Amino acid sequence: MGPGHCRVAGSGPGGWPEQEQARLSKGRGIEIIKRWFADEDHQGETELAVIAAKLNAGFKKLAAAMRKGAVILTDVPEVRGDTASTIWLSEAAAAPGSAATDRIRVVYIESAFCADQNVLSGKKNWTRILVHEMSHVELGTDDHRYAHNALGMKPDKHNLSTATCLDNAESWAFFAADCAGNLDDGIRGTVLKAISVKKHTAWLVFSPAFCVAAAGA
Ligand SMILES: [Zn+2]
Repeated sequence: MGPGHCRVAGSGPGGWPEQEQARLSKGRGIEIIKRWFADEDHQGETELAVIAAKLNAGFKKLAAAMRKGAVILTDVPEVRGDTASTIWLSEAAAAPGSAATDRIRVVYIESAFCADQNVLSGKKNWTRILVHEMSHVELGTDDHRYAHNALGMKPDKHNLSTATCLDNAESWAFFAADCAGNLDDGIRGTVLKAISVKKHTAWLVFSPAFCVAAAGA
């Protein structure tokens, strides 16, 4: 799974008329959009279409960036092995908007990347992390809410509004995982409602200025 492989469309049984498949596919996509992005004020067809357009444009940018093979995966050497460093202890980090400001795409892979301490694990978690971090890099998203946060990631105008979800890296990442069929009901429920959480690792975002300093530039 990756942004390039994120499929909003569902696939029906073979032999169905194309139109029907298209209608059902659209319906499934809207359902997933609602789940991760639509608060009470954004349930209408018009509002959902606006959200869908933003997601479409955003994922196209992510997919294009990753297909180019121009994404650098590295750690931050200055904090390597430093158990007092929240960066080193995190799964990964990125500088928001750096694709535009620095014209370089870097995702910093840190010690907890392989630690299997988050809601997802293994390849699913690694892919989710990359979508999350690339949304910072490419789209300038922020971290408003994580999957492991007790408040949950269900859109709610007083808790996590549509605008906030669209600016939340973790919402993009879980939407992609959901589209790709990588969330079971238990995990989806845990993340949306925060019924229970595993031990977690904080993800953080640090500023481009820090990255420059860390790179010794
Ligand atoms: Zn983040």
